[in-house]
Amino acid sequence: MIPEIYLSSPHLGDLELQYVQEAFAANWVAPVGPHIDAFERELCIETGAAHAAALSSGTSALHLSLVLLGVSPGDEVICQSFTFAASANPIVYQGATPVFIDSEADTWNMCPDALEMALKDRLARGKRPKAVIVVNLYGMPAKLDALLKICHQYEVPLVEDAAESFGSTYNDKPCGSFGKLAVLSFNGNKIITTSGGGALLSEDEALIKRARFLATQARDPAPYYQHSSIGYNYRISNVCAGIGRGQLRILADRVAQRRANYAYYFEHLIKLPGFAFQPEPDPCFSNRWLTCITVDPDLSGGITCEAIRLALAEKRIEARPLWKPMHQQPVFAGLPYYGSGVSNRLFKTGLCLPSGSNLTREQITKVVSCVEETVEVAYLADGKN
Ligand SMILES: *Cc1c(COP(=O)(O)O)cnc(C)c1O
Repeated sequence: MIPEIYLSSPHLGDLELQYVQEAFAANWVAPVGPHIDAFERELCIETGAAHAAALSSGTSALHLSLVLLGVSPGDEVICQSFTFAASANPIVYQGATPVFIDSEADTWNMCPDALEMALKDRLARGKRPKAVIVVNLYGMPAKLDALLKICHQYEVPLVEDAAESFGSTYNDKPCGSFGKLAVLSFNGNKIITTSGGGALLSEDEALIKRARFLATQARDPAPYYQHSSIGYNYRISNVCAGIGRGQLRILADRVAQRRANYAYYFEHLIKLPGFAFQPEPDPCFSNRWLTCITVDPDLSGGITCEAIRLALAEKRIEARPLWKPMHQQPVFAGLPYYGSGVSNRLFKTGLCLPSGSNLTREQITKVVSCVEETVEVAYLADGKN
């Protein structure tokens, strides 16, 4: 199916092309160039982070964060289970073992109690995890104060996977500025895009300098090619950074547009029996990257999220189940997991609705009507009207 209404598609502004043209005119097409430096400075202004390295993807930023923290074969790294696989895969790139943590119901992100239980248990087994990867899922900040306090107490660095939460804040502090290192993604489906890209952010200048060095093949300062470390080809291109600079200028608009989508869905769908939305507890402010609902079939007259997804697909409207937790993925079978089933339940009952900032009023009305009709038809069939 080629959707007529996408889950989340790129949405360019007026300045991106101008920046790209500048890059072409100066032949700064590759590899580095002035847009990269400017993009990094502007990312720092936007997030309040002291230092930023612009990279080829969010995944490469996560990978470098683990390299910088010294994650090596045989180590353990704690990771939120309810997330996209790219949060966890880099742990395995380093030959380390992921230890998965369940979510809490308030923000759908890493449960502080489960994290503490896991840390105690891993330490009792003689293993100190090398890092904790916390995700702000669908744009919603995790309980960062509580998580940071635990990480501090157990002396394990926190990596903030803010790939989905650029433009969100926690306690008025921007996502991407928490923890030892933070990661952004500018993939095509994210709130802003560089066509493909990411960034690594930190207060620690030495870490970010080292990230830039490793991301450009780890060339020692010598006239010939000499290497004392294993490097990567993880830098962003000057053309992509130019797109990013244009997108940064309209980030606040994109957040407002996505939050307006959420508000519209909430207004129309919350009255349907069994329907609920991802909560936004104090002091979280979410960019509402994706609007996510859950449907409790015991209250909805038997209608499931999957039935709604299929009904939408029939109208060429793209919706997706919530992330399947990592501890349930075949590729991660048998790895340690600490939790009580919150993410399992969310996966079983949840759905992401079309949430692009370029969604028209006509399109969102169509999505809402389709969901309402599906519920009504189920009710009629059930004889409950
Ligand atoms: C998109 C995403 C990533 C990976 O970012 P890419 O730029 O696509 O490599 C990592 N973590 C989460 C939670 C994501 O949603």
